[in-house]
Amino acid sequence: MHDRKIIRHGAIAIEDRDIIDIGKTSDLKRKYGRGYEKIDAKGKIVIPGFINTHQHAAMSLLRGYADDLPLQEWLEKWIWPIEKHMSAHDIYVGALLTAVESIMGGTTTANTMYHYLPNENEAKAFADAGLRGVIGHVCFSWRKEKDKQALQDLAKNWHTKIDGLIHISVDPHAPYTVDPEYMKELVEVRKELNEKYGSKEAPIICHTHVAETDDELKKIRKAFNIQLENGIMAYLDSLGVLDEQVIAAHCVALTDRDIRIMKKKNVKVSHNPISNLKLASGISPVPKMLKEGITVSLGTDSPCSNNTANMFETMKTAAILHKGMNRNPTLMPAEQVLEMATIEGAKALSWENEIGSIDVGKKADLAIINPKMPHFCPLFSEISHLVYVAKASDVETVIINGKIVMEKRKMTTLNTEKVMDEVEKVKSNLLSKLERQR
Ligand SMILES: [Zn+2]
Repeated sequence: MHDRKIIRHGAIAIEDRDIIDIGKTSDLKRKYGRGYEKIDAKGKIVIPGFINTHQHAAMSLLRGYADDLPLQEWLEKWIWPIEKHMSAHDIYVGALLTAVESIMGGTTTANTMYHYLPNENEAKAFADAGLRGVIGHVCFSWRKEKDKQALQDLAKNWHTKIDGLIHISVDPHAPYTVDPEYMKELVEVRKELNEKYGSKEAPIICHTHVAETDDELKKIRKAFNIQLENGIMAYLDSLGVLDEQVIAAHCVALTDRDIRIMKKKNVKVSHNPISNLKLASGISPVPKMLKEGITVSLGTDSPCSNNTANMFETMKTAAILHKGMNRNPTLMPAEQVLEMATIEGAKALSWENEIGSIDVGKKADLAIINPKMPHFCPLFSEISHLVYVAKASDVETVIINGKIVMEKRKMTTLNTEKVMDEVEKVKSNLLSKLERQR
């Protein structure tokens, strides 16, 4: 991802958390002979780990619980009623499962929005699994005081903690669930938290859903009785929400005016093609945004609207969807899509000085992929195969923050079987709680 260069017969030297050298294997072997643990990646492809910029990690607990429904019915009749019963431990276990699935598919960073509770939470799950993450607390108008306390605790306990593995974010759920006054207040909260805990290198960003469906303006009108003549982005801009540290997930129902404002304010985008297709929300005008020079990254969305955390699937879908929609096979070429899943994701999370590419001085967040597979054969172009043919199971070894978190498909940080057993237990518990309530 560094000026799209492929180094053949290459090697990477890592010290502690950092990439300290990159070059030909023969040169690096001479320079770093003794005292260095070696991973033999001969014949393998090493990439910067994927950066999944929109997740609700704990929701893996509801994977496959309710499918094939309209978004509002899915949320109101199925997801929200069962989510009410989730304990801090449940959230932790769900996020742990997503962290393991993510790592096993070559993802090294995920941006997740969920409910933060003090003892067990998504931050602890990511830390235990060794996955880098931006952990948010999702805010709603109906629980302002609780949200503000959660944000304070989250920032104090987790921002830049675990050797810099964890960042935190302020997450207004959406413009139709967060009233205009609260939106403005959350801008102030983010500012204050940044003054206290943030820095230029590690800012506390804002992660929110915007323009996921065509009827969003109608929903805002209905909820807060406000007219939005100039569209969603003009509205958010009038509240002072938009700046370069805002990542807007979905961005499906956008007008040209919206796109102009996003460009002007340098708002970042998380494109979630599989979730948008599955929930029939529509198709985001990604080629248009890219043409305007807007940073567009890729996300899976939660494992219950996707239903995986697999970034290979998301890359392929993003690459082919816009070609078909626009009857133009030259749109979204593989190189660009791979950038969206790595370096553009880093930019979208305001973390590009540390992650997103294999560069000296950056953190060692790497995935080693084994191309000795029938579906990789013959190998004309690594980049083409990474986007159009590779599977999560082709990822062999993953390094995050200089630490091997998966080696030869085995997690080193935790016991995968135990995590899955615990998820089944939590699932049964949730179902019986729901049953008792009925
Ligand atoms: Zn979402």
